[in-house]
Amino acid sequence: MSILIVGSVAFDAIETPFGQTERVMGGSAAYAALSASYFTEDVRLVAVVGEDFPDEYLQMLKDRKVDLEGLQVKQGEKSFFWKGRYHNDMNSRDSLVTELNVLENFDPILPASYQKPSLLMLGNLAPQVQQLVIKRLEERPDFILMDTMNFWMDIALDELHKTLKLVDILSINDEEARQLSGEYSLVKAAKKIMTMGPKYLIIKKGEHGALLFGEGKIFYAPALPLEEVFDPTGAGDTFAGGFIGALGKASEINFETMARAIVAGSAMASFCVEKFGPERITQLTDTEIAERTAKFGRLVDPEGDLF
Ligand code: AMP
Repeated sequence: MSILIVGSVAFDAIETPFGQTERVMGGSAAYAALSASYFTEDVRLVAVVGEDFPDEYLQMLKDRKVDLEGLQVKQGEKSFFWKGRYHNDMNSRDSLVTELNVLENFDPILPASYQKPSLLMLGNLAPQVQQLVIKRLEERPDFILMDTMNFWMDIALDELHKTLKLVDILSINDEEARQLSGEYSLVKAAKKIMTMGPKYLIIKKGEHGALLFGEGKIFYAPALPLEEVFDPTGAGDTFAGGFIGALGKASEINFETMARAIVAGSAMASFCVEKFGPERITQLTDTEIAERTAKFGRLVDPEGDLF
């Protein structure tokens, strides 16, 4: 089972009520690929960085056996840079700086070895680029997950709608679901968004967990109540990477296997927030993941019938 992940690989600067960092590795594809790498060794990444991107950051991905043949390094250009500040509740944040740099003219080139992935994750990235990736694949993957954010709704809504028509599932947060649908009720928002293309929808609610919609059903997974949350950056991408990784291991893809994958994704995201940047999800053990997933499973399903 191979997973192709396309998205940003970035410099992030983060401010939370607990402290701040200057330039750590970030980006939707970086977080998602690290997370998915705990489920399969066949994770392939397509992204672009500038010549300023440190080798030690790329080494974190290589150490997790993420295939970087599709990572372009643009000489003479600067990497994507994002700066965010979290509010006291740690659930909401402001994007203070978004410098697209290399992302501005990103042409996602797919190496021959990347063709025919089983699963495709279109991480948060310009919707035009997300579409190009689907078009450049010889065969449609079995399953396509798309992530996005308000930034693209603000500046590229028409293109976003075109991408939505091509994917199986969309993963967004509650605020974005409301913006995309124009509905306050998340149930109404979900119904509306599912008429835009995707058959399934995940709405992430930060520390309040995630909702899965599809096949006329709703599944709710709470987030694990954690004593300490240092930095929620990347939690959504880590969640999506874990979700698609777990789904890749399932015998078939349907609402029930997706519900299980949501629990796996939530477990991965719960690690991500424990330290600044991606640090925590570079060094997990299989035992830690199994224990945390079991803890989650008990929260969702105390009788133990499902997990
Ligand atoms: P998350 O916290 O999961 O929503 O993801 C945060 C990550 O998204 C950060 O590491 C950023 O580098 C990345 N990011 C922020 N804005 C954008 C954007 N406009 N396009 C692509 N990636 C972005």
